[in-house]
This record gives sequence, structure tokens and C-alpha cells, in this order.
Amino acid sequence: MRRELKTGIGMTSARTRERLLKRLRDSGIRDSGVLDAIRQVPRHLFVEEALASRAYEDIALPIGHGQTISQPYVVALMTQALCAGERLRRVLEIGTGCGYQTAVLACIADEVFTVERIASLYRQTRNRLFDLRYRNVQFLHGDGFAGWTDHAPYDGILATAAAETVPEPLLEQIGVGGRVVMPVGQDSTQRLVIVQRTAEGYERREIESVKFVRLMSGTS
Ligand code: SAH
Repeated sequence: MRRELKTGIGMTSARTRERLLKRLRDSGIRDSGVLDAIRQVPRHLFVEEALASRAYEDIALPIGHGQTISQPYVVALMTQALCAGERLRRVLEIGTGCGYQTAVLACIADEVFTVERIASLYRQTRNRLFDLRYRNVQFLHGDGFAGWTDHAPYDGILATAAAETVPEPLLEQIGVGGRVVMPVGQDSTQRLVIVQRTAEGYERREIESVKFVRLMSGTS
């Protein structure tokens, strides 16, 4: 791939990626499926070329439109919380962004459905994941506050932007036994929330403080 050649060997080397993997393991990521997915997905191809040399550092990076690609640790933590050691069949992601989290999900789930409200990001990322041969992902340009009813119920729903509460349509579109993982709260005080749907109702717990961009209404 042309872009891969241009970014050079050093930053994409197995050694650089293994360093990131070690850091994630040291930070408490234990799920081998999640660690394998992070090992496989070429994060340097999801950011601008100028930032590619920093792609395997455990940091968030800008992806344009005032949005960011999440820190690998947070991607791993959310993915681990979503699958809880089980293979997922259908997953819904709200906030496609550059598609890095989408690609990680595509490695651990049979089918991924992803919704993005910014048209240019939606198009760019759909093309990127097609070029990278992720064939089990379907894309929607839409408002993720509404979820994506056509393919519900989902085994897992993951949102990569924060809201003040978990939107009701997402709770409705999760299957029994499945869970929603998303950042909830105000700008400075978000918590990563896991809502598990049971036969009786919903169980909610919080795992960590995080900082995400806001989930915005409507499309652009
Ligand atoms: N997982 C992405 C994170 C991108 S930041 C990545 O790794 O690149 C959050 C994304 O959510 C942005 O692309 C933003 O445009 C999108 N977003 C915000 N509100 C949304 C909404 N209501 N519906 C769909 N996408 C939304």
C-alpha cells in the first residue's frame, strides 16, 4: 500500500506495536481477543500522515472536524467491557470517526454497524475500511441518538462520544444479555458507563473517568 511505504518501517514495526501491547497489558487489559485486535489493526493508517509516527503511542490524536481518534487504552477498555470475554455477533457503534475503533470491533464481532453524523468523515472512513478489506462493517450517515433500528437487537452498543444520559433508543435496541458501553456526563466529569440488559431490566455500573467529545444532535 502506497501510504504504508511512505510512512516508513520504524513506526509500523512489530516492535513498536508490541510496546503498545505491553503498555495495555500493564494497564490491565487482559482480553486476548481485544489485544490481538489491537495488534492487527494498523492505527498509523487511520491518522494523517504527519501524525503516523505517533500512532502507536497510547494517546488520542486529532482526526479533523474537531474530533479525535481515541487513545488505544480507552479503545481496548471499552471493547473489553463490551464483549466481556465472549464473541459478539452484532455490534452497533455510534461515532465512526476515523474508523479505528470500528476496525477493532470488526476483528472481534461477526458484524459491525456504525453511525456517523458528519458526512465527509462517514465517506472517508467507509472508503478507508473498504480499502483495508474490512468486509463485515456497514456504515450509516445519521444521528446516533436514534441508534440504527434496522439491524436491532444488538449484542453490544458502543458510543465513542459522550451524552448526559444513555439515549433511550440505544437501551431499546440492545438484546437481552447485551450491553451498552458509553461515556456519560458533563464535559469535565464523564464516566465510562456499562448498562447490561437482563430479562428483568437494566443494570448499570461505572468503570472509569474518561474524556470524550460530545454526542451532537442531527447530521452535518
Ligand atoms: N471512534 C472514533 C472516535 C471519533 S470522535 C475514532 O476512533 O476515530 C467521536 C465521533 O462521534 C466523531 O466522529 C463525531 O462526529 C461522532 N458523533 C458525534 N455525535 C454523533 C451522533 N449523534 N451520531 C453519530 N456520530 C456522532
